[in-house]
Amino acid sequence: MTSATNASKRGVIFSGMRPTGLLHLGNYIGALQNWVALQDEYDCIYCAVDIHALTTVESRADAAGIQSNIEDMVLDWLAAGIDPERSIVFVQSHVPEVMTLHTLLSMVTPLGWLMRVPTFKEKVRQMDETEETVNYGLVGYPVLQTADIILYKADTVPVGQDQIPHIELSREIARRFNNFFGDTFPEPQVKLTEAPLLVGLDGQAKMSKSLDNHLDLAATPEDTARRVMTAFTDPQRATRNIPGRPEVCNVYSMHRMFTPPNAVNAVYDECTTAARGCVDCKRQLAASINAFLEPLRERRREYQARPEYVREILHEGGKRARNIAARTIEEVYEKMGLTQP
Ligand code: ATP
Ligand code: MG
Repeated sequence: MTSATNASKRGVIFSGMRPTGLLHLGNYIGALQNWVALQDEYDCIYCAVDIHALTTVESRADAAGIQSNIEDMVLDWLAAGIDPERSIVFVQSHVPEVMTLHTLLSMVTPLGWLMRVPTFKEKVRQMDETEETVNYGLVGYPVLQTADIILYKADTVPVGQDQIPHIELSREIARRFNNFFGDTFPEPQVKLTEAPLLVGLDGQAKMSKSLDNHLDLAATPEDTARRVMTAFTDPQRATRNIPGRPEVCNVYSMHRMFTPPNAVNAVYDECTTAARGCVDCKRQLAASINAFLEPLRERRREYQARPEYVREILHEGGKRARNIAARTIEEVYEKMGLTQP
């Protein structure tokens, strides 16, 4: 077995999310549902990437907020079906080896690769910064993300479509390291769901917390219904009697995800013949989404009542992750000709 293959016979999955608040339906449809499903076939490692969330922190209070989000986010994972008996669930900062690998990988990563990442320029703009004032951590974000993944020699990364360019860069960094120092890391591949990009309620390309066009998994049914009623539909359907075009309507695309198939046919027919209006259509969608989310919400309430259990999961997960990480760092030291401490 070469050092680039995993000791495990199964493939290794790694993925992370920033603990910036509750998860929304886009996170679930684009990534989390795959996290759950892949537990059957892979050794899975799921990480609350709190250091990544520090790129936008400016005070102790901001930083404390991130820590308080970790448990909320992990509750959403458990609610969705992440099984801590099978998968490693941990907090990024609890495995400081990732920062060691980040520094070492930064030596093989050309600055131009990082400046060309499409989300870099976008983030700089969003944060009201310039390329001169933006913190170094944000530029190096994809290097830390690469370290997250390859520290565990993961070969597969389940994420939403917006992450494709980052994982492409991770492959290039891993390849360059392997070229310089010998075969060490697998080149990680993206694993998408059937719906890798959920559109926002306002019709913007991506459902996202920062755009406030999202539906939280853990929201109340009433709140979910209220937000669904604000969703954009076919803009040409200015009045109730104009037939709609389901193929351009995000409400219809969500019906296809959450409404039973036979009922979806009725949605299509009644929309294209103007037999139903958008208000009724959204009411039905809200009911479908709430029915879909109810078992998750129920499980979430159960876990929420046992906060010490969630902390125990993260503690155990951190220990397991550190064991793997320490072996990789030892190998990287050896490959790069560093003496072992
Ligand atoms: P923020 O708005 O704070 O950037 P976010 O809503 O974009 O947060 P992330 O933490 O960036 O969420 O993403 C976590 C995971 O969910 C990633 O794998 C990402 O690709 C996926 N994801 C996020 N939004 C969507 C979406 N609208 N459709 C599909 N996948 C998504
Ligand atoms: Mg994001």
